[in-house]
Amino acid sequence: MRRLLVLGAGTAGTMVVNKLRRSLARADWDITVVEAGDRHFYQPGFLFLPFRAYAPKQVSKPTRGLIAEGVELVHGEVDRVDPAANRVLLADGRTLPYDYLVIATGVTPRPDQTPGLLDGGQWRKTIFDFYTYDGAVALERALRHFDGGRLVVHVTDMPIKCPVAPLEFAFLADDFFRGRGLRDRIELVYATPLPGAFTKPIAAARLGSMLDDRKILVEPDFLVERVDGTSLVSYDEREIPFDLLVTVPLNMGADFVARSGLGNELNLVPVDRHTMLAKAHDNIFALGDANDIPTSKAGSVAHFAVDVFAGNFVEHAAGRPMTGSFDGHANCFVESGHGRALLIDFNYDTQPLPGRYPVPVAGPFRLLGESAVNHWGKLAFRWMYWHLLLPGHMPSKGK
Ligand SMILES: Cc1cc2nc3c(=O)[nH]c(=O)nc-3n(C[C@H](O)[C@H](O)[C@H](O)COP(=O)(O)OP(=O)(O)OC[C@H]3O[C@@H](n4cnc5c(N)ncnc54)[C@H](O)[C@@H]3O)c2cc1C
Repeated sequence: MRRLLVLGAGTAGTMVVNKLRRSLARADWDITVVEAGDRHFYQPGFLFLPFRAYAPKQVSKPTRGLIAEGVELVHGEVDRVDPAANRVLLADGRTLPYDYLVIATGVTPRPDQTPGLLDGGQWRKTIFDFYTYDGAVALERALRHFDGGRLVVHVTDMPIKCPVAPLEFAFLADDFFRGRGLRDRIELVYATPLPGAFTKPIAAARLGSMLDDRKILVEPDFLVERVDGTSLVSYDEREIPFDLLVTVPLNMGADFVARSGLGNELNLVPVDRHTMLAKAHDNIFALGDANDIPTSKAGSVAHFAVDVFAGNFVEHAAGRPMTGSFDGHANCFVESGHGRALLIDFNYDTQPLPGRYPVPVAGPFRLLGESAVNHWGKLAFRWMYWHLLLPGHMPSKGK
């Protein structure tokens, strides 16, 4: 009997075990997934919680019900991987051996990494995040009571998961305050470490002009060094005062990755960008946000990469060369407010371009252009996530 051990039952981990359970014979393979939490969060829904477009109960489900029969779910926190001994140690002392390991423990926001953010006395008073469930719920209350002043939407550093989410937050905030007749009393500022609105030039130009249209002031090249009371301070000593700060803290991989000697400076696992095989170990893969591939950290990327990985894994475990090659495919709906959204689609070699994107039943969707159909596509995606994507039934583009 061979053992496949998957760490993390988030987007990537859940898809992997559900797909591979169908393709790896039960008589030959044990599949186990380790997960610290007991609820699975649909993280794209966190964007909508502060604006009450989703209710909290719509963005999570019990993890157990999402894992295929025939996969063992171990509830526990990974403390470290011992690659030399092919085993994983859990925080409660249990040890899990493996023949093949998939690290899918994602990234988490780390406000503790910016001085003054968590420890300056303003956390969840005037400083909020929406990249966590608790943060998004707390921010809903803050927005409800905010009726004037300077709201700063801020990105600490790249890479972050869903790099368009803070832009979407700014667009939705503009729409939200307009709807409440308060927009004239609120100054909206978008502070980013990037030279423009986004990483890819064509999309950056398009999204940048959308910020201008909505009179959202952009502070580019802003690399925060610390938070001083109610001001962000950059390394080059620029200051951005705020009445309400909505920040995306530094996103980092799990600490156990560093403790196990498997990560880079952000605790991301260096992998081959086409196969997700760890550069340092022939029986360890890292999927989803946990790896260092140069494309967006997004559920869509996890989905497209898992599709390639599932075929490759069967070949690799049989001692054959892996024939699938992941091309960095990413796509993302960008909510732009007023019931509209754009869709961007790109890979390692091609930047986002205008056109149409085919999706069975719900599509096609307009690329790089705002439309109501795209907005409904984004909202419908929650259903697809729970019912098609996580069970491993959602086809990739063109299939
Ligand atoms: C606000 C927001 C909006 C987003 N919008 C979009 C979008 O529109 N489109 C899109 O494609 N993507 C979007 N994303 C990104 C998407 O949610 C992530 O890229 C995706 O969830 C990554 O999947 P993952 O499996 O790598 O990590 P995750 O889904 O985060 O799962 C990691 C799992 O590992 C577990 N774990 C971590 N450490 C340990 C440990 N030590 N021991 C045991 N278990 C552990 C965690 O509990 C978690 O369940 C958004 C994200 C956010 C925050």
